[in-house]
Amino acid sequence: MRAADTDPGRFSITLRGPRLVYGETVAETELTSELDLLHAERVLVLSSARELAVRGSLLAPLGDRIVGHFTDVRRHVPQAVADAATDLARNLGVDCLLSMGGGSAVGTAKAIALTTELPIIALPTTYAGSEVTPVYGITNASTKRTGRSDLVLPRTVLLDPAMTWDLPLDLTRYSAVNALAHCVSGIFARGRSPITDLLAAEGARLLSRGLRGITESFENRGARADLTQGSYLAGTVLAHAGTSLHHTICHILGGTFDLPHAETHAAVLPAASAVLQERDPDAAERLAVVLGPSGLSTGINDLLEAVGAVARLRDLGLRKTELPRAANLLTGVGQSREMAGLSVARASQLLEEAWG
Ligand code: NAD
Repeated sequence: MRAADTDPGRFSITLRGPRLVYGETVAETELTSELDLLHAERVLVLSSARELAVRGSLLAPLGDRIVGHFTDVRRHVPQAVADAATDLARNLGVDCLLSMGGGSAVGTAKAIALTTELPIIALPTTYAGSEVTPVYGITNASTKRTGRSDLVLPRTVLLDPAMTWDLPLDLTRYSAVNALAHCVSGIFARGRSPITDLLAAEGARLLSRGLRGITESFENRGARADLTQGSYLAGTVLAHAGTSLHHTICHILGGTFDLPHAETHAAVLPAASAVLQERDPDAAERLAVVLGPSGLSTGINDLLEAVGAVARLRDLGLRKTELPRAANLLTGVGQSREMAGLSVARASQLLEEAWG
């Protein structure tokens, strides 16, 4: 008999993550010294053209340490983009990658680091949280290959709430709900532990408070700080606990029906939370205490309604006639362990709720 069978509370965890430098304006004041710590002399910047235009002044003090810019960053990192960015890094002989942007910018840096082993320093401008995970994803045709490697874990993150002050309200909402989904999934994930539960609960509390704050006033800097810190905790949960049924559902629906990533999370989260809550009420209770006394699923529903982040699959392009096929896909043979035990009837009910 294994020890874990006699002691279900047993766990092991190796906490690891990038060096974190947090605070308003650290992107402006600490970038040079953090590059010094990495002995970086030839830096390639990964950033959308928009971010480069808006935040180019942050790079000015670095002078000719910046040897190139790659601006063709895209969601889910198409293989062709990964190849072009990697070729550029090799041709320029760079010794460090600086991602300045959301998950797409850091995802491109990760794709380069995977084969070149170059260090990454990240300046996040959304709440995606990818900068604290060793998870990468590269898309070939319509198939996304994901994996984990310490090679892609950034060495340093400059986490500066001021970098998100201009993030438009809609992007703010869906980016933050995405982060909240990492906390919810992590509470039920196979890799969870009391440590990740604490991080998930505090992450959800900060994200919930930040979402309400930013809805009351777009200029609310305290809310931006909450969302920034919450996204860091959510990314850390994703990195250490992994995900559960909610993410698997979003992955299958998004990939099969070409649905928008962040909005699909918002549409599925309340209904998926209800299933997770039925399976493990004790775990659900750990989050319900921070999201409201009425239970996890209702708490999430209430939050999304209060902050205007409600989404429905029917508005995202999924036809009602596709729901039976979707239910079969979610419960199909060979699906991951996270989906085990989900009946076609329960999957259909979940989809009906998320469809609206
Ligand atoms: P994104 O990086 O694609 O950015 C979305 C849009 O917002 C872009 O048009 C960008 O230019 C704009 N933008 C970014 N910051 C802005 C700002 N401060 N102000 C105004 N506009 C701004 O989107 P995202 O949600 O940050 O990242 C999504 C990607 O990250 C997906 O591909 C997802 O799969 C991936 N992701 C990966 C992980 C991981 O651990 N590997 C975790 C979460 C997300």
